[in-house]
Amino acid sequence: MGEILRAVDLWKIYSMGDAEVFALRGVSLRISQGEILAITGPSGSGKTTLLNCLSALDVVSRGEIYFEERDISHISDNERTKLRGERIGFIFQQYQLIPVLTAVENVELPLLLLNFPADEARKKAIEALSMVGLSNRSNHKPSELSGGQQQRVAIARAIIHNPKILFADEPTGNLDSDTSDSVIQALEELNRIHGITIVIVTHDISVSRRCNRILEINDGILSEINNEEE
Ligand code: ADP
Ligand code: MG
Repeated sequence: MGEILRAVDLWKIYSMGDAEVFALRGVSLRISQGEILAITGPSGSGKTTLLNCLSALDVVSRGEIYFEERDISHISDNERTKLRGERIGFIFQQYQLIPVLTAVENVELPLLLLNFPADEARKKAIEALSMVGLSNRSNHKPSELSGGQQQRVAIARAIIHNPKILFADEPTGNLDSDTSDSVIQALEELNRIHGITIVIVTHDISVSRRCNRILEINDGILSEINNEEE
């Protein structure tokens, strides 16, 4: 399988007044096209920092990130925004849906902001909702949906532009195990049926063991752990 993303010796150093926080300390990794990968590690170990840098939301202090062979670690803010809008999806632990909009309106919003024709945006939003098993909830507002359903709306919104890779930062962190399962199942289907590469940050062993591969980060240093052992 081809490689979609490669990171080489990433460092991220936050300056806090006089103090410096070394959030990433020489992280290197490869992600293959079509894999579903988990990143675990204790709170404060650098998981969100790593995901934000890999997904071009944030920039590294040092190191290179190659996305589809292109070095994206030194591109401008505008180019990063464009790249995310075209190739990358992202979901957060807090679903970040707009409360006054229905599910389908939340999902189509990114396309409307890109000046897509309204009927085309609506059609794609309905498709994306069906891909996460929510066709029958398209006219519900977030407050009328369960946590798992809200997260699936957020997933539909994140895939509306057909991204090649989807990053999820603790997507089941707010959910009980039943609703968590529906979210992971939706991600697995996007991976299996639609071939989207998926990177999930999670604390939940029942989530990470369903992935092809598990990486663990400790104090800004990444290592691979064996998924086969029980
Ligand atoms: P995790 O997601 O694993 O909990 P983070 O990536 O959020 O970890 O944080 C890694 C380290 O970097 C922590 O020590 C955190 O306090 C620090 N950190 C994260 N974001 C910032 C920031 N914007 N400014 C300063 N320090 C930060
Ligand atoms: Mg985090």
